[in-house]
Amino acid sequence: MKLIDLHTHTFFSDGILSPAELVYRCSLNGLKAVALTDHADYSNIEEVIGGAERAGKELTSRYDIEVIAGVELTYIPPADIGRMTDEARKLGAEIVVVHGETTAENVPAGTNISAIRAGCDILAHPGVLEPDQAKEAAERNVFIELTTRAGHRDGNAQVASESIKENCRLIINTDCHGPQDIMNMQKFRGVLEQCGLDENYYGQLLENSEILIERIKNK
Ligand SMILES: [Zn+2]
Ligand SMILES: [Zn+2]
Repeated sequence: MKLIDLHTHTFFSDGILSPAELVYRCSLNGLKAVALTDHADYSNIEEVIGGAERAGKELTSRYDIEVIAGVELTYIPPADIGRMTDEARKLGAEIVVVHGETTAENVPAGTNISAIRAGCDILAHPGVLEPDQAKEAAERNVFIELTTRAGHRDGNAQVASESIKENCRLIINTDCHGPQDIMNMQKFRGVLEQCGLDENYYGQLLENSEILIERIKNK
């Protein structure tokens, strides 16, 4: 099974690569699919999704990699996350990631649960995942992210064990901001090892990314 990365940044927000370079580098690493999910709030959501869509359409036809147009709703006040998730989908986002309550930053309290109730696709780096949050994520089919990203990855082990307890689906992404962050097998395995997950989880986690893509495509 090939690697997939469903959380990346380009220079449409604070990444340093253009979509064209990011996608090409991902294809060189053998990825099967990549989602362009730049940071967005009220001010730039149309540009971010529009750019990802245009780039995605062109690049998918040029390389052997599927490019998915998405967005990462970032620092949206929790009361507005539901409305902004709906707006992102209306604007054409195939995948909606929400920037969760990583312990590396002061993300507004209530972001995790609001993202889950909004029915986003991926709750990114939730920091500490509470049992009630994990339960609702499982009910609503929200994927919970384990990340390769420094700082955010400190929460991985707790997030993994809580998610497994409540049967919610885990997914591994890079939150890529530059060439050094592009997904590879070493990074992927590093996350599983950090969480103390055995060989059985490798295939399962790869498959979860495929399951999410299937769901996106059937919407
Ligand atoms: Zn960023
Ligand atoms: Zn991100």
